[in-house]
Amino acid sequence: MANRKPVVAANWKMNGDRQLVKQFIEIVHAAEVTNNVDVVLSPPATLLDYANTTRLGQKADIILSAQSISELSSGAYTGELSANMFKDVGCTWVYCGHSERRHIFGESSEVVAKKFIQAQKNGLTPVLCVGETEEERKKGKAFSRLTSQIEAVINLAGKDCFQNAIFAYEPVWAIGTGKAATPEIAQEAHKFIRGMIAAMRQESAESIRILYGGSVTPDNAVELFSQPDIDGGLIGGAALRPLDFVKICQAAT
Ligand code: PEP
Repeated sequence: MANRKPVVAANWKMNGDRQLVKQFIEIVHAAEVTNNVDVVLSPPATLLDYANTTRLGQKADIILSAQSISELSSGAYTGELSANMFKDVGCTWVYCGHSERRHIFGESSEVVAKKFIQAQKNGLTPVLCVGETEEERKKGKAFSRLTSQIEAVINLAGKDCFQNAIFAYEPVWAIGTGKAATPEIAQEAHKFIRGMIAAMRQESAESIRILYGGSVTPDNAVELFSQPDIDGGLIGGAALRPLDFVKICQAAT
């Protein structure tokens, strides 16, 4: 994993409540994993303020991430939440282009790129999520899909945009299905992504952290995270079970 500090991020999606936030923070702190791993919590937006004050009451070492932001700054956009609003409740990171945003809510790669820019412009670190569908993989189009998703961001944000960003490779067929990618398949995709960044800027490629997401559990985490280009994980289902999540963090060290 070179010199890159591993990241393990909890994506709760539309799940969780205050009680789970409190339990999660207590269990992560008791396990003392944050010295060696960047631990990220992204509960639903309504729980972020509570998560922020709860983590501050203990230690402020858990990073808070928004699950998505608006591509717009402020104004008459009912229901939208801006980058600055998330900063106000302690967020420093945001996911851009999670597959559920792309596939269920129809976010195009161009909209994802606008959100990526909005994040960086407002001082949030974007976690750019990319990944191919099962059909694209079967047709041998996995890498062309990754290329088009990444190029959409480069086209709008420029070649230097990955100096302060994180990647998450999340094959759509592995998210929430219990069918994680094999370590070999995941490593091949991570190496491809790092190679694309290296072609533009070598230093960014060496320092950028690329997370794997898709049915990570305490049972498969060690093997996945021991691949040379995998720098941790983006965890959905298992992140709702704090004891399992902590085991996944320990697998990243
Ligand atoms: C995710 O939500 O990004 C994810 C990877 O979910 P799961 O771990 O449940 O597959």
